[in-house]
Amino acid sequence: MTNVPITVAHGDGIGPEIMEATLHILKAAGARIDIETIEIGEKVYLSGNSAGIAPESWESLRRTKVFLKAPITTPQGGGFKSLNVTVRKTLGLYANIRPCVSYHPFVDTKHPVMDLVIVRENEEDTYAGIEYRQTDMVELCLKLISRPGCEKIVRYAFEYALKNKRKKVTAFMKDNIMKQTDGLFHRVFDEIAPEYPGIEADHWIVDIGAAKMADTPENFDVLVMQNLYGDILSDVAAQIAGSVGLAGSANIGENISMFEAIHGSAPRRAGQNLANPSGLFLGSIMMMVHLNQPDVAELAHNAWLRTLEDGIHTYDIFKDGVSKEKVGTKEFAQAVVDRLGKKPETLKAIEYKKVEEIAAADRKPIYSIREPEKKELVGVDVFVNWWNGNFYGDGEVIGKKMEEVNGGGVKLVMVSNRGTKVYPKGMSDTFCVDHWRCRFMSDNDNEIISHAQVIDLLSRINAAGLDFIKTEHLYNFSGQPGYSLGQGQ
Ligand code: NAD
Repeated sequence: MTNVPITVAHGDGIGPEIMEATLHILKAAGARIDIETIEIGEKVYLSGNSAGIAPESWESLRRTKVFLKAPITTPQGGGFKSLNVTVRKTLGLYANIRPCVSYHPFVDTKHPVMDLVIVRENEEDTYAGIEYRQTDMVELCLKLISRPGCEKIVRYAFEYALKNKRKKVTAFMKDNIMKQTDGLFHRVFDEIAPEYPGIEADHWIVDIGAAKMADTPENFDVLVMQNLYGDILSDVAAQIAGSVGLAGSANIGENISMFEAIHGSAPRRAGQNLANPSGLFLGSIMMMVHLNQPDVAELAHNAWLRTLEDGIHTYDIFKDGVSKEKVGTKEFAQAVVDRLGKKPETLKAIEYKKVEEIAAADRKPIYSIREPEKKELVGVDVFVNWWNGNFYGDGEVIGKKMEEVNGGGVKLVMVSNRGTKVYPKGMSDTFCVDHWRCRFMSDNDNEIISHAQVIDLLSRINAAGLDFIKTEHLYNFSGQPGYSLGQGQ
């Protein structure tokens, strides 16, 4: 069998040590891989490359299509973009898979029965990184959620459940508040779930869902969620399972995939042969499955489980009375190598059967191509930076001022401040900042308006000496409003 080329980055902090340990185990387990090494992270950032990755490294990733990455340190201060987010988005790594498993009674945990997988959307949400300072007081971050993005991740979660013989997929979202963005995620989940009748589907509002996951993780199986919720909750899940140092992660794209630990570069532990290599190692096991080398994945994973069972633990999971021997990074890796061919005796041994099927299904994103709906412009929200020195009671003042620019077939229908209606009929108790949303619609009920009317309106606002900082068009799609109606309406 021929070797498969992969790209490897040793990273920063504890990165080089845990990568060396991981590769030592993989090689001893007979991994059929040829390694291309690239430099990423702190050194590259500090050499003046704000993305932390050199152009020739992209070439390697596009050539091998498989990336085993140790954690890196993003330098403090502005101007340095997160390499992880850049790689995930640039290469379309749309699904982030984070298994969180407890290893009771060998690793101390509050949750003896825990074996869940978080499937996190990896390309959009607030992680689009589109942010602005708009006024003296207000900064804004765009939360972008697309239908294909939702379809890709929700379908991936169900396909993952099917291929890995999981029983349930649970979605977390906050659609009681974010009716458009999280509402779309929920609708897509409800559309796709019935296509998988053998898999139970349920959903929770993310706040109570997160509380339940932290309290009774045994009730969850596969969880699917948007980028930010998934980022936060996968760390929670890994930590309550035993340690963030124990969880690996796969970032799956249509053509290229990246495998890593979920934790960071832990600079305080660097260079001391202390770090637990298990997170990166389990990421590399997911990589071996992806590379269709189930024999290697099974051999190495079972030896690793046996090492945990034998009580050979790094400092982060070492506990008197539970553990037997406290070891460093290198010794832990050697202990796994020494156990290759052995299986765990109490923990369930791993079988990576039929992985060809899993690997193939894992890669291909599935989304529908739909006929665009009928879209009609019915109004515009003009955001205005205006400040009269008062945190209370100025809704009436700005409302009256904005009414002066009515005309050309459009009129002001409401003003809100941070989403709360303050005009007409605002409440004097509402705290207001210098950022006002002024909604204009046709002065003839339900009529569509034109872009030219919007431009004329902006000209009148400009002539009135008001600072408009952003506009959002209000569209109906197939006759249904494609915008939030605003509190108080
Ligand atoms: P971190 O995850 O690096 O470390 C937090 C703490 O967790 C450590 O101090 C250590 O006590 C423990 N820990 C983490 N991994 C461990 C391991 N393998 N073995 C033993 N203990 C471990 O988080 P941080 O300190 O907030 O971030 C440090 C740096 O890592 C930052 O520069 C951050 O940007 C970066 N980071 C990188 C990635 C990545 O490359 N994937 C992810 C997260 C953070």
